[in-house]
Amino acid sequence: MKIVLLGAPGAGKGTQAEIIARLLSIPTISTGKILLEAIKKGTAVGLRAKEYMLEGKLVPDDVIISIIKERLQEDDCKNGYVLDGVPRTIVQAEAMDELGVGIDLALSIEASDAMIIERMTGRRVCSECNSSFHISDNPPRAEGICDICGGELVKRADDDLEIVSERLSVYHEKTEPLKEYYAKQAKLKLVNSQPALEDTTKAVMDVLGI
Ligand code: AMP
Repeated sequence: MKIVLLGAPGAGKGTQAEIIARLLSIPTISTGKILLEAIKKGTAVGLRAKEYMLEGKLVPDDVIISIIKERLQEDDCKNGYVLDGVPRTIVQAEAMDELGVGIDLALSIEASDAMIIERMTGRRVCSECNSSFHISDNPPRAEGICDICGGELVKRADDDLEIVSERLSVYHEKTEPLKEYYAKQAKLKLVNSQPALEDTTKAVMDVLGI
């Protein structure tokens, strides 16, 4: 199955993407994670993306489109994928349609702005493997330490309140219109993000029929 996850930053796309990917044995493709990796390695893409990401702005479409084009050519994408955080604009969605990137379903995880702000400012990510935790909703077993690899958990620079507010307004302006884009293709399904992670997961599974 080829799935696009839509929703505001912090709505829980990343977490649900990992769960779906594990259950369906398909990869998760997160442009946010690919970009963070590129910044860490100091590649040309990373250097270009960094300033936008730190300000809560979208990285230019051409950068994202070339990342996605390259990534989807890899062998593990043959049986499907979960796209987490891409497309983020109509231009990206159109480019992906033109490239023949098949999408079976666009699943939007709906959350209020207040819920997003609470979640993102409490989010902590592993500086080694990028796994994501939350100080109250999904705490690691040991404070400040990644359950998966033992790496140090840090607050992402773009999870600060001011930047989160900017990212939300970018979401409403640029990304939310994708719901209508996929609704017109009869591919859109909505799920309400719930306070408890398992409840959101259950709603997602119900929609996917898995
Ligand atoms: P995320 O982890 O998906 O919230 O992405 C973190 C940041 O990476 C975003 O705030 C953007 O600056 C950038 N980014 C990730 N995916 C995209 C995309 N598809 N289009 C533009 N910018 C992106």
